Amino acid sequence: MTGALRRFVRNIEELVDAGGESQPAFWEKLGSAMSELVAKDDWLPDSVAVPHPEYYQQYCLYADPDDRFSVVSFVWGPGQSTPIHDHTVWGVIGMLRGSEVCQAYAIQGDTAPCPIGELERLEPGQIAFVAPSIGDVHRVSNAFSDRLSISIHAYGGNIGKINRHVFPESGGPAKSFVSGYSEPVQA
Ligand code: FE
Repeated sequence: MTGALRRFVRNIEELVDAGGESQPAFWEKLGSAMSELVAKDDWLPDSVAVPHPEYYQQYCLYADPDDRFSVVSFVWGPGQSTPIHDHTVWGVIGMLRGSEVCQAYAIQGDTAPCPIGELERLEPGQIAFVAPSIGDVHRVSNAFSDRLSISIHAYGGNIGKINRHVFPESGGPAKSFVSGYSEPVQA
């Protein structure tokens, strides 16, 4: 693990040890840790920065041994996009390379997900949050149709193992899914 990532993992470990989301100033501290991590783009190994021609990739950078948190690199190929989904745990996103756009949604039963607020765009160095307590459902896309983008995500659980949901765009029952992780690509 590189120095910047090790430092980030230590910061998150401290936050989780101190009680996680229930602790005062949790979001502020979580945001500062992520801002510090994505302030420089010189630490992400090439093996976890490789796009796939069809699917956005989620490489596990660190998983807490007790599954209390995880850190992931999200690698977007040109024009790639997630379905509308939830997380069920807190999450922080930091933009490392390129840009992504994010639309939040409200879910009411089986009706079509309803967009909330504006489409938000993240530029390198910027951060965003998700969580059941603040808004947990969104769709995220690469802002570019001609180049890759990379963001770093941390979650309050082992996100590759968590059973969560995809919401069909035109309504209907939510579908359960477990995202898993992509295999790092050895040069
Ligand atoms: Fe998400």
